[in-house]
Amino acid sequence: MSEKTISAISTPSGSGGVAVIRLSGQNALSIAEKMFIPSGKTAVKNFHPYQMYPGNIQTQNFTDFGLCVYFQAPKSYTGEDIVELHCHGGNEIAKGILKQTFLLGAVPAQAGEFTKRAFLNGKMSLSAAEGVIGMINAQSESMIKAGYSLYQNRLGKQIKEVQDKLTTLLASIEVDIDYPEEDLQNSIPDLINVKEELLKTCNRLRNLKNSYETVGRRVKNGITVAIVGKPNAGKSSLLNAILGYDKAIVSDIEGTTRDIVEGVIEVKGVQFHLYDTAGLRQSKDVIEKIGVEKAEKLLEEADVVLHVVDGTKAFDAEDIERSKSIQNQGKLLHFTVVNKCDLTEKVDVFPVEDVPCLEISAKNGKNVQLLVQKMYEVMEKKYNFNSEFVVERRHYDALKEALEILDQVYMQAGEVPLDMLTVGLQQAWQTLGEITGETANEQIIQEIFSKFCVGK
Ligand code: GDP
Repeated sequence: MSEKTISAISTPSGSGGVAVIRLSGQNALSIAEKMFIPSGKTAVKNFHPYQMYPGNIQTQNFTDFGLCVYFQAPKSYTGEDIVELHCHGGNEIAKGILKQTFLLGAVPAQAGEFTKRAFLNGKMSLSAAEGVIGMINAQSESMIKAGYSLYQNRLGKQIKEVQDKLTTLLASIEVDIDYPEEDLQNSIPDLINVKEELLKTCNRLRNLKNSYETVGRRVKNGITVAIVGKPNAGKSSLLNAILGYDKAIVSDIEGTTRDIVEGVIEVKGVQFHLYDTAGLRQSKDVIEKIGVEKAEKLLEEADVVLHVVDGTKAFDAEDIERSKSIQNQGKLLHFTVVNKCDLTEKVDVFPVEDVPCLEISAKNGKNVQLLVQKMYEVMEKKYNFNSEFVVERRHYDALKEALEILDQVYMQAGEVPLDMLTVGLQQAWQTLGEITGETANEQIIQEIFSKFCVGK
């Protein structure tokens, strides 16, 4: 347990109903005693933990009326004694109260120091701490859910189970090394057993790793939607219609969108990043050319491609060629969006097989929401955003590394004496420990907590 008692404002700066000043450390309660005058008869030092007490919060220059709550070690967020002072939510009030805690001996908390202490005191794993920051920084509901799952240590528990399995494997191999003559007859079944267990472990790690590649990274970074098509097909208009406000410039002058314009929407808790791109055409204009190159690159990376065509014009060979080439990239979702249907009586069916086609009007909004809904449905069906998945790149990297080591060990099993497998098994164990923090070095820990805000 750390000796210094830290203090910080835990609520965001600005005016609001309430602000919270939080103290953690062995002097938390004695500092509170010197600045909180309870309205009731119970003295601060006799406060029952986890109960709110009303009273005056006194500073050198002013008094506020608020609440005080004591969380007794070790049953607190940090594992240390914690006191929270709830005051009126004005910047100056909270700052004055914070200053008072410093005058009484507390020191300013560093970014994330409360959570870092929680980790160092064994209250939560490193991945669970990352869940807390994940939830705080979440930009969508699916990110909150993923952060909460981490915070509940669901990944941490899975990693621990895999590590335990590796420990058992190591122990069984070491028995084999220590008593080779006794195990002589058993060494073949042992090998089969080791290989079987290794395979199961590798598969488990592979599933976790794959869950990041498919779902996790999309939840974290959003689903990439490229809006492409010829100049004037209505790409910018479609972006604006989906967003519900004018983000991109709409004009009947060809080549208006040169750079990529991004807009973000959230559908049922999942973020979609929509990119309006430069119209795809051969251009002599240097800047437009760069825009077209960017559009082509985005096309390669996108999860969803909305290929916008002008429904008032005949589909030509170039449209068909473009559609086929996108199809060949094996996109998960590739829509032909036939725009400007408000201007035409009947739109010809776009003649590329297996590419769903939807008639819309970016101008009057017809079928625009249907398009968004369809986009979501296809993604949800494929990725199941409500499943459990790995969401942090750092965890993914460690899983990938551990898996590579274990795949190697699996291939070596049977080819080399069993004892030669131990190094790899130990390495994989260590690598997995970086996820939960068991084997993470100070630099990794520092980096993670520096992403936190002060007061958490
Ligand atoms: P982009 O070059 O593909 O981004 O096309 P814009 O969105 O800038 O639109 C080109 C022109 O088509 C503009 O004059 C728009 O007002 C018009 N336009 C776009 N969508 C529609 C639509 O659904 N209906 C009609 N009538 N006009 C549209």
